[in-house]
Amino acid sequence: MSLITSHLTDPVAPKTALPVLSAMVPNAPGAAAPPLPCAHGGESYGPKIDYELILDCVHCGLCTASCPTYVETGNEADSPRGRIYLMRQVIDGTLTLDDDVKHHLDLCLNCRACETACPSGVQYGRLIEPFREHMAAIEPGRQTQALNALQRFLLFKVFPYRWANRLSLAPARLMQWTGADWLLRKTGIDQLIPKPFRSMKDMLPDLKPHYGQLPEVLEPEGKPRARVALFLGCVADALYPETNLNTARVLQKNGCEVWIPRNQVCCGALHYHAAAEEPARAFAATNCSAFGADKIPDFAKLDAVITNAAGCGAQLKDYAHMMHDTPQAEAAARLQGKVRDISEFLAELGPVKPTHPVKVRATYHDACHLRHAQQIFKQPRQLLEMIPGLELVPLPESELCCGAAGSYNLTQPEMATRLGDRKAANITSTGARAVFTGNVGCLMQITRHLKAINPSIWCAHPIDALWASYSGEMPAELK
Ligand code: SF4
Ligand code: SF4
Repeated sequence: MSLITSHLTDPVAPKTALPVLSAMVPNAPGAAAPPLPCAHGGESYGPKIDYELILDCVHCGLCTASCPTYVETGNEADSPRGRIYLMRQVIDGTLTLDDDVKHHLDLCLNCRACETACPSGVQYGRLIEPFREHMAAIEPGRQTQALNALQRFLLFKVFPYRWANRLSLAPARLMQWTGADWLLRKTGIDQLIPKPFRSMKDMLPDLKPHYGQLPEVLEPEGKPRARVALFLGCVADALYPETNLNTARVLQKNGCEVWIPRNQVCCGALHYHAAAEEPARAFAATNCSAFGADKIPDFAKLDAVITNAAGCGAQLKDYAHMMHDTPQAEAAARLQGKVRDISEFLAELGPVKPTHPVKVRATYHDACHLRHAQQIFKQPRQLLEMIPGLELVPLPESELCCGAAGSYNLTQPEMATRLGDRKAANITSTGARAVFTGNVGCLMQITRHLKAINPSIWCAHPIDALWASYSGEMPAELK
């Protein structure tokens, strides 16, 4: 381990790291000229990682307080600045990519809170993602070796497929509806269920009935105001079908003609974040066709492609970059240009005023892929504030990741648990009876961690509350 790495991994480093780093880093203010991009030689990270982006970091440390892993461990090597420096040293050939370095990079949630906090505009995601792809390329399977066979199967062979998800959830739905699930837990018999199955079962929310299949086109209510396509997602559609249904209804209520292309697939995020780039690109190519001019008549007149899941939205808004060197590059850029989160779209359109009171004290958690990757934070709050009877109270640390982060709670369960417990405690401290967030992973993680300390809190998507106010149909959780 080099002198710099041992300094970075020293738990007391945060208090002393900045002066030492500044003195040793070539592009720090007042330091020597940066090395040439080819300085790394040997194993090449060059084709995928832009060295100039690394040099954007001036080591000011203003990002550290926003980084969930740094907040939890207090270790500079678990901070954005530390990780950027570790990557740079490896690229420069002055540090070996050993298990210790890999651990600090793996612990990153890719939540992008550091991008929001950084005054120098460092594009951290453009660094960590290609770096992880490289780590996966030189050591295939490493990214997922923390997963057991069942988790790997579910993550790559079931979760990305809507129908496979619904099928795999059928036994769990049956157990929940018949009360067998409750009985197993009460009697402790569920401890006999093999651990891999039990831990997956414990992550499930209360499953609502699925809506089946929506027509390919839904008519607007009242005067037509816009023409949109709806992206359904994969895991979200199976676990929270009511949110997709409510999104379609809210869009109709707001005068939208809604296209729901049949052959749409997973956005590719599950594979992409596990550094499996090729399958991710194959999903993206299918979506470029499903949401393209061949399948949607008058595509040029389509106002937006709507998503209600922050993780999917961030991935769809990155398609141009992801597909830039493929035959679908143009189609990907066209699709990306139309993608909008539902709250972003309604704010642009001017939402129809909801009328039925939803009497609840509520709070809002910022999903990282909405707040940090898409810079959307005012719009969902504005929608909630429009609802009569709903009192929205601020959530302490609302921008700090809840620990879900895609498959992170499977690959890094310890840190995911620490962050999940922290989020649940913050929510409880507000005295709210409902918590809203715009991402399926956050909903699952928060629900799971609240179950232990405050199971009566309703966890839902803001669009579920908006539909309740439009329709007057109150969800069971509020009755
Ligand atoms: S990432 Fe940005 S905020 Fe963090 S140390 Fe570098 S320049 Fe400063
Ligand atoms: S992406 Fe999130 S966890 Fe990773 S360095 Fe940035 S703030 Fe920290």
